[in-house]
Amino acid sequence: MVAPPISADLALPEVLKESGQREVFCGLTSIVWLHRRMPDAFFLVVGSRTCAHLIQSAAGVMIFAEPRFGTAILGERDLAGLADANDELDRLVRELLERRPEIRTLFLVGSCPSEVIKLDLQRAAERLSAQLAGRVRVLNYSGSGIETTFTQGEDHALMAMLPLMPSSDEDQLLIVGTLADAVEDRFRLLFERMGVPRVRSLPPRRSTELPPVGAGTRLLLAQPFLSGTARALVHRGAKLIESPYPFGVEGSRLWMEAAAAAFGLAPAAVAAVLDPLEVRGRRALEPHRRALEGRRLFLLPDSQMEIPLARFLARECGMDLVEVGTPYLDRQLMAAEMALLPAGTRLSEGQDVEKQLERVRAERPDLVVCGLGLANPLEAEGIATKWSIELVFSPIHGCDQAGELAELFARPLHRRQLLSFV
Ligand code: SF4
Repeated sequence: MVAPPISADLALPEVLKESGQREVFCGLTSIVWLHRRMPDAFFLVVGSRTCAHLIQSAAGVMIFAEPRFGTAILGERDLAGLADANDELDRLVRELLERRPEIRTLFLVGSCPSEVIKLDLQRAAERLSAQLAGRVRVLNYSGSGIETTFTQGEDHALMAMLPLMPSSDEDQLLIVGTLADAVEDRFRLLFERMGVPRVRSLPPRRSTELPPVGAGTRLLLAQPFLSGTARALVHRGAKLIESPYPFGVEGSRLWMEAAAAAFGLAPAAVAAVLDPLEVRGRRALEPHRRALEGRRLFLLPDSQMEIPLARFLARECGMDLVEVGTPYLDRQLMAAEMALLPAGTRLSEGQDVEKQLERVRAERPDLVVCGLGLANPLEAEGIATKWSIELVFSPIHGCDQAGELAELFARPLHRRQLLSFV
């Protein structure tokens, strides 16, 4: 079923559309932050050795801890027949659950090798859910690089959970998108102080404690890459709060004010909570603004966070935007952000990596925000880079974090400056 559009058409600036070779991580990468968020869930990637290597290297040191993800490698042996592959998967799941009885939700995560595409993971999840009823819920989604960029993995995982969310029309603010626990606690406290009646989150900290959704739900996106989830929640009755995203002082304040307005809270009471935060946040930004002001920034498409970050870096840190690329542009969810970009900002959607690199080389920006695969070659050409993936792993939301967020961009410029003295 196709969910209805969130709002009417909006007049937005012209965007250069590109399609060609892409250089982005696949949706499997999002397992790295999702498994930290829901410690009682396990992510079983059904894939190849390449997928296992990706998830292990993306997770880095976590692999030495007790991991809550693994890979069911479907190799040549399984190509003999899909029945064998299903039996193999069932056996692996049984063994996993014997070893790890604390698992409450098991995600079967699809990937792109052809032998996996042939396997019907939805049916496998239904079969295993029936076998394990009352003990473990088995869900499935695709993290395949053919269908997803790395942040879309979270969108797909949340959509897989959505049918299990109970229906309720009670009034609540539903924050959607993974936040660091400490950042989430802080937002909850601030919303409570403003007078928001009930604050819940998706994904929840326990995979079995899914929030309800219905006509009383006001939906506030914490991450800009959750288009599918937002539409599906609107389809279940939730009302989307349209706002910029909570990056930087300005974005965070507008985000919290939009939520407060959705509950009809008195602006004076909201300002009493937010004014001191704004003052502190702007003070923390100051030293980093001095480092970033006037520096030229090029964002290559990778995370779908590029437009909100560009808005923050231009308006609060004084950077000059050379080009802002995004892998996909959801014009409805991004309208409030695009309205805040400096007039004439060059926007591009999609990727043709060679053409984009040519533009980077021609422009010689001071800093390029890009995926890991492009960072080393650009550094070797003397261009400072910032890995966009770091922005998903770092606690960057909220007025309190604005200084840290700016520092993430000032650091590579500082490092390059030090190297130039060596
Ligand atoms: S792009 Fe495909 S094959 Fe490569 S790691 Fe991701 S899912 Fe696996």
